[in-house]
Amino acid sequence: MDFALAAEDEAFRDELRSWLDEHLPPFLASEELADDAGLSGEKSQRRRAAWQRLLHTGRWAAVHWPEEYGGRSATAMQRILYSEIMAEYRTPGLFNPNGLWQIGPMIIAWGTEEQKARWLPSILDATDHWCQGFSEPDAGNDLANLRTTAVRDGDRYVVNGQKTWISTAHLARWGLFLLRTDPTAIGRGAKHEGITAFILDMETPGIETRPLRDMAGEEMFNDVFFDDVSVPVDSRLGGEGEGWMVAMGTLGHERVGIAGQVSLLAADLRALVMTARSVNPDALSDPALRERLARAWTEIELTRLLTVRALSKIMKGEKNWPEVPFAKLQWATLAQTLAALAVDLLGPAGLLARGGPDAVDRGKWTRLYAFQRYSSIGGGSSEVQKNIIADRAIRLPGQARLS
Ligand SMILES: Cc1cc2nc3c(=O)[nH]c(=O)nc-3n(C[C@H](O)[C@H](O)[C@H](O)COP(=O)(O)OP(=O)(O)OC[C@H]3O[C@@H](n4cnc5c(N)ncnc54)[C@H](O)[C@@H]3O)c2cc1C
Repeated sequence: MDFALAAEDEAFRDELRSWLDEHLPPFLASEELADDAGLSGEKSQRRRAAWQRLLHTGRWAAVHWPEEYGGRSATAMQRILYSEIMAEYRTPGLFNPNGLWQIGPMIIAWGTEEQKARWLPSILDATDHWCQGFSEPDAGNDLANLRTTAVRDGDRYVVNGQKTWISTAHLARWGLFLLRTDPTAIGRGAKHEGITAFILDMETPGIETRPLRDMAGEEMFNDVFFDDVSVPVDSRLGGEGEGWMVAMGTLGHERVGIAGQVSLLAADLRALVMTARSVNPDALSDPALRERLARAWTEIELTRLLTVRALSKIMKGEKNWPEVPFAKLQWATLAQTLAALAVDLLGPAGLLARGGPDAVDRGKWTRLYAFQRYSSIGGGSSEVQKNIIADRAIRLPGQARLS
């Protein structure tokens, strides 16, 4: 891997930096859009929408989308630069991360021109919030076991069943859902077949969304119930039975996105040390904590290099295998290690939760300690990543695997 940047990558980096230098400080100074450190509250959503709209005015909301749809056709290298710079500047969260990173590219790849014109603009400019509805009570890691049905009835489909753990479905106007259009496929031993992708209007009668409270105190994800929901045929994305291919594209984007999250961990670690200096400076002289800090930093750097190697393979037209499951596994472990380190490093003050007047960084670190449990579950659990690595990278004999 040649670490030197090409001239166009340098120009991309410099343009993004100068745009952020100009636009981020006034945004952060706005009282009206102050950070409430929540994820799903109304205030937080307003702030995220305003930030995404501002990014969109500079064509910085979806750099990986083709230029004709409002992106910048960013290369893999530019996507990594984008993640690193946004993490370095500690920019606010996006209103539509699912829509921008996963669903938009799928609409671009699978949608008709009419569907692209109908949905892409509202994802980009934060008019509508989007969710992604794949998981069900008996279909998580084993996603192909999904059983929510969509049965064709003339020019409509009728949907019945339940999805679960659907992030921000209660805030979403639209969702990309995977539904079973051929209920016989599971019985035939062909469960990856007969699955179809649909874009559903979450305001359709018969859809009920019930938020689930997580252990960090957020109501971020939901059960979604479908009771004879009638949806038009033109809400189908791709052909009948092509849903598995649509989904694999979506999860591929999710996993590349997860690899990019390593930059956020590095920025978090730097911020953590600064906070510890002011609220619990003695901890920084503790040899055991210093060793954990050094180890965390080293692992973050190694994981960054792993993602760079994946990038290098993409640029050479090779498959970025097995770096992607390795990076997902590493990221999940690191996210949890760092959250535990934060609570230990900040001492008693680090345990104060959001809402209290003395909470450090508005309770961010305590919330992360609970929330990061998710990182070894969402986007493919750590046990399953290990199985994939054992099977396809190390080629361990079957009995040694975790199943
Ligand atoms: C915060 C959060 C947000 C989420 N948001 C969304 C969303 O927006 N949309 C969506 O569709 N889904 C979402 N999910 C769901 C997520 O994709 C699933 O939780 C994930 O796929 C795991 O499925 P599961 O929870 O059913 O666990 P299961 O698949 O039932 O796994 C349970 C346990 O068994 C282990 N296990 C399973 N199979 C094997 C095996 N073959 N070998 C060894 N161990 C195994 C797993 O590692 C895990 O520890 C979200 C989850 C979380 C935690």
